[in-house]
Amino acid sequence: MDLSKFLRDVPDFPKPGIVFKDISPLLADPRALRASIEGLAELMSKARVERVIGIESRGFIFGVPVALELGVGFTPVRKPKKLPWKTRSVEYDLEYGKDRLEIHEDGVEPGQRVAIVDDLLATGGTAKAATVLTQGLGAVVAGCFFVVELGFLGGRKKLGGHVVESLVRFD
Ligand code: AMP
Repeated sequence: MDLSKFLRDVPDFPKPGIVFKDISPLLADPRALRASIEGLAELMSKARVERVIGIESRGFIFGVPVALELGVGFTPVRKPKKLPWKTRSVEYDLEYGKDRLEIHEDGVEPGQRVAIVDDLLATGGTAKAATVLTQGLGAVVAGCFFVVELGFLGGRKKLGGHVVESLVRFD
């Protein structure tokens, strides 16, 4: 199934010059939605994943059903001040400025094999931050998995050393 047909290009969102890949048509189509979940689970099938991490917020949409499909648990990585328990935090670069992501201190276990899931890989800064949080807690990054990859932005390079897989790639 060609999932690229279910992505809507929205020019100049959220700011001029960005072409936003809107996943709403994919989420609205039950066959495309199922294909994306099953596709991600298939990409992870050889990674011996023991926990799925989803990055707020669109990473939650895909991460939870993929975790169910694999029969493992799910851990959210969230924007600052959202998680109620003790957290670890990492700062990362955005195109303009900086942002932070947080994880619960007991969100993953030392030695656990963790898959990081988000809807889209652009420059890789967000996913890289999630790998830093994962490794900071002593867990092992089994790979980073995306529905969409904007290959021309070089995110894969930023995640160098980790397995990086995506269902739809734009080069
Ligand atoms: P990056 O850290 O540059 O890899 O950006 C990835 C994060 O920003 C993901 O959580 C995406 O949902 C979002 N994102 C960045 N660029 C786009 C885009 N062109 N279309 C849709 N989402 C994007």
